[in-house]
Amino acid sequence: MKKTEKFKAAMFDFDGTVTEKGSISPSDEMVNVLYKLAQKVPVAFCTGRQKDSFEEHGLKIILSKIEPARRQEFLENLYLIAENGSIGYVFDSGIDEYKEFYKVPWPEQLVERKWLMDKLAELTQGFGKVHYDKHQVVVVIGSNRHDEDKKENNKIEDVYETSDKIYDVTIKLLKEISPNYADFVNIGNSGIGVVIIPKNGDKDFGIFKFGELLKETRGMSFDAKFSEILVVGDRPQLGGNDHEFLKGTYGTPYNVGEDIVDAKLPLDVYDKNGKKLLNAPATIFLIKELFNSID
Ligand SMILES: [Mg+2]
Repeated sequence: MKKTEKFKAAMFDFDGTVTEKGSISPSDEMVNVLYKLAQKVPVAFCTGRQKDSFEEHGLKIILSKIEPARRQEFLENLYLIAENGSIGYVFDSGIDEYKEFYKVPWPEQLVERKWLMDKLAELTQGFGKVHYDKHQVVVVIGSNRHDEDKKENNKIEDVYETSDKIYDVTIKLLKEISPNYADFVNIGNSGIGVVIIPKNGDKDFGIFKFGELLKETRGMSFDAKFSEILVVGDRPQLGGNDHEFLKGTYGTPYNVGEDIVDAKLPLDVYDKNGKKLLNAPATIFLIKELFNSID
């Protein structure tokens, strides 16, 4: 079958999409495929992580597997949409760093951000960990079963279960704060924690901003829905942190997660025998299917 190369850009969720479920860093094969892809089209990671965490646990590992002389060229085609869509960064080769190109504000009119963090720290004591320092916009409560600095993580099933518990506590609190909380924030369960995101700054907005930036800075053209942007994530279900990313408002979405959503989009990924593929192997398979000369 001839490949059509419909896509002009690609966006990937990171945890569970580029990495294997429960794993911190991508495989050598994934890095190789992403490197080749970034030579063809602009690539963005769209993650619930904040910039430092992505650089420390994602980017550094990817770059360590790419020849030093080729890193600059790779970075210039690599964009970062962090904090689940709330902040976008573009690589500035002049200063050799990622520079912000947009940021949405936290909705203080719903609840003061610091107050919410303190309250959630109290309510999730013993199983959750509020991330106080590094996120600029979103509020994140991680599962305390998931410690990425330890070599041996707890069983991934325990981490996912704790994340579900944090999700329930968060929804309950927000309902108490305002019955209309959903007009202001989305709550996303990434499986390793929960992220509270300004409604106007979720991952769907990240796709829009990425597309607009490519139009502006590279003179690229897209249709009104940016359907020439490939979008891949693993948590499309309601309450998942890719729900907005993969619902098809913008981009052409693919789901590499376990849950199948009862809707036309996102599309699932199947191998030649009709078996649904999951997580990193599904992402690799999809990239090879959709783009020529990547193997
Ligand atoms: Mg994910």
